Amino acid sequence: MTYSAWRIFTEGLTGNRGWKRAWRDPEPRSDYEVVIVGAGGHGLASAFCLAKEFGITNVAVLEKGWLGSGNIGRNTTIIRSNYLLPGNEPFYEFSLKLWERLEEDTNYNSMVSQRGIINLFHNDAGRDAARRRGNAMMLAGADAVLLDREGVRAQYPFLDFDNARFPIRGGLYQPRAGTARHDAVAWGYARGADRHGVDIVQNCEVTGFRIEAGRCTGVETTRGTIGAKKVAVCVAGSSSRVMAMAGLRLPIESHVLQAFVSEGLKPVIPGVITYGAGHFYISQSDKGGLVFGGDIDGYNSYAQRGNLPMVEDVCEGGMALMPMIGRAKLLRMWGGVMDMSMDGSPIIDKTPVDGLYFNGGWCYGGFKATPASGWCTAHLLATGAPHPTAAAYRLDRFRSGRVIDETGAGAQPNRH
Ligand SMILES: Cc1cc2nc3c(=O)[nH]c(=O)nc-3n(C[C@H](O)[C@H](O)[C@H](O)COP(=O)(O)OP(=O)(O)OC[C@H]3O[C@@H](n4cnc5c(N)ncnc54)[C@H](O)[C@@H]3O)c2cc1C
Repeated sequence: MTYSAWRIFTEGLTGNRGWKRAWRDPEPRSDYEVVIVGAGGHGLASAFCLAKEFGITNVAVLEKGWLGSGNIGRNTTIIRSNYLLPGNEPFYEFSLKLWERLEEDTNYNSMVSQRGIINLFHNDAGRDAARRRGNAMMLAGADAVLLDREGVRAQYPFLDFDNARFPIRGGLYQPRAGTARHDAVAWGYARGADRHGVDIVQNCEVTGFRIEAGRCTGVETTRGTIGAKKVAVCVAGSSSRVMAMAGLRLPIESHVLQAFVSEGLKPVIPGVITYGAGHFYISQSDKGGLVFGGDIDGYNSYAQRGNLPMVEDVCEGGMALMPMIGRAKLLRMWGGVMDMSMDGSPIIDKTPVDGLYFNGGWCYGGFKATPASGWCTAHLLATGAPHPTAAAYRLDRFRSGRVIDETGAGAQPNRH
């Protein structure tokens, strides 16, 4: 079934009785060409691209819970490509271009909204860094505009421009950045993959890997053993734990990141603002809720829930940036587990185990990467070679020293 305005119209006239399930609920088969572990954004996008772009449809995506229960449905929905380093910027710009045609590709309304993002700066050094990053973005074909204080004020007159500690001097603006409805992205990829014949198997936890003579030949699951020529692990916050079952230790730590949503308000924030100095960022959902967040927790954890110290920290940031937020009521908050890599950049690579591939280390920025990550993982699985935009995302870069340290924070995952 193809979704269209005409379909909505005709279904509306006939009692909405013609809609079909968006994806099947198949029993897992005993063998597949490719098994993907994890039905988050990256696993589903990889399966979709394998089928659609590379014609490999004998694929299963195995999910321990329900589809979209992980970070794909927990993030604050920001998409952007405002990176500095050559290892990152072409990849994220590729991703943003794929976002621009995602709804056409998947025939699903993912509510991609290019409402723009502004990264604020507060001093001369910050302005110089923003200018340099903007130039790097434009060299990679992205859009970037350096705004002075009045340029920011024109869009966000209510910010505290004269904050004593971090007065706002301007911002790096990317007009094509924005937001997308996160769970609709998962549903769109799931439906798209399913339409191409991919089996999405929920409630099927991978509990081990079948490795024979150094080669991965399948996975052990709570629903039995499933053979595969290739296995790709896309489990985000569970990366270290899952890869440990294959005997691999990753350069990754896990930390919780929280998100917050206020009661619904009339439109007040037209785009996305990030306030790095104050550890705060915010946008407004189409339902009117202010969607905001801040830093990751400073300690390692697999606890997929929020906590009060971070509520205080994030609300302090919000009050410093836009004191009027103190009048809004907080509606809900939640946490997700981030796979923080040692240089803050991701990994899409083969592993030392033949036939076993790894996609992870997305830190708190993996949502925006979803389309390109899926494409590049599928490219690697199908051709055996990395996609040109993801060629730097190698697992061995931490040993060889070719790290992609976007923030220059060094091997301190909680600082990226
Ligand atoms: C609060 C918050 C805000 C964020 N904001 C942004 C943002 O604004 N922009 C942005 O770009 N990024 C953001 N992120 C980061 C982004 O959400 C993640 O980097 C990205 O979603 C991770 O990839 P994924 O979607 O594949 O992960 P997930 O959705 O977590 O998918 C992994 C899946 O693997 C499954 N799994 C785990 N173990 C097993 C197993 N043994 N067997 C089978 N399945 C298993 C899990 O159940 C899960 O469904 C945010 C994250 C959080 C938590």
